[in-house]
Amino acid sequence: MSEPGGHELYPWQQEVWARFAPVLRGERAGHALLLTGAPGIGKRHLAGVILRALLCEQPDTARLPCGQCRACAQVAAGSHPDHSRLEPPEPGKTIGIDAVREFCRRLYTTSQFAGGRVGLIDPADRLTVQAANSLLKALEEPPAGSRILLLTDRRDRVLPTIRSRCQIWRVDRPDPAGVASWLATMPAAVADAMPLARHAPLQALTLAESPVVTEQGALFEGLANLLAARRDPVSLVADWQKAEPGWVVDWLYRVVADLLKLTSGASEDTLVFRDRARELRRMAELLDGQALRRLPPTLTRTRRLLDASVDRQLTLESLAIAFLDCRRREKRAA
Ligand SMILES: [Zn+2]
Repeated sequence: MSEPGGHELYPWQQEVWARFAPVLRGERAGHALLLTGAPGIGKRHLAGVILRALLCEQPDTARLPCGQCRACAQVAAGSHPDHSRLEPPEPGKTIGIDAVREFCRRLYTTSQFAGGRVGLIDPADRLTVQAANSLLKALEEPPAGSRILLLTDRRDRVLPTIRSRCQIWRVDRPDPAGVASWLATMPAAVADAMPLARHAPLQALTLAESPVVTEQGALFEGLANLLAARRDPVSLVADWQKAEPGWVVDWLYRVVADLLKLTSGASEDTLVFRDRARELRRMAELLDGQALRRLPPTLTRTRRLLDASVDRQLTLESLAIAFLDCRRREKRAA
């Protein structure tokens, strides 16, 4: 099952559902629920299931939406009269005050069915200050029976005035056992992408096609050759550019974390890239543990510079040189 139906859960979401479902329709769940957690773990899908469960006329014994009743069919078709969404006009844009007013107007219109109205705000961190202010009343005293679901990957970016009026429901990264059955149905590249995706399954699915995963062997080899002085930084950076620099920097973060573990004597079982332990150990032998500790802040700075769309080639070249500067002195002289 690559993608479950809108009324079904991903296999790793059973546990979180068991936690949420019993309170969902009861008094203990707030009127405004803020769903937070890492990107790529299926929060949006989960929010869709919650929304359907709230509107469904005959939820099953696990309190999941039936997928067959009139309400479920209307939500699936996007035509349920008691269901409204508030989203940015385009991905990445902000949600403005006019959109919020329209959303609230719909929320305060009398519900047509017994379930009450349900509104979804996605993502909640994109509301402008003005828009957020015009939403506060609805969050505090929503019309009877209505619920507002808010979603975010970045809880720290949701305005405090919004956050403090919501019940916060945290969705954790799934544990590997919960993801295993799903991974078994996926191409091998998805499993390969899991460490880089920090074990967020849907993020891994997106990354699986990316060169940073499909060319991962070549990226490891390039870095090893740089550290062994068999590759010059400029040509290596050309490879990084081809593999989407932002993801390369994320990949380098995990590689450096593994190298730090190896230089401080941690076991290979703790590595992100366990299956590349031998290559990583060869790299670690060339590196000075002390100097290596300076790399994570350098990577953070690089990430920021890339986001600010500076000269990518130059930024990445200085990063490659920072790696060279981490080599042990006696090896460098040799
Ligand atoms: Zn139903």
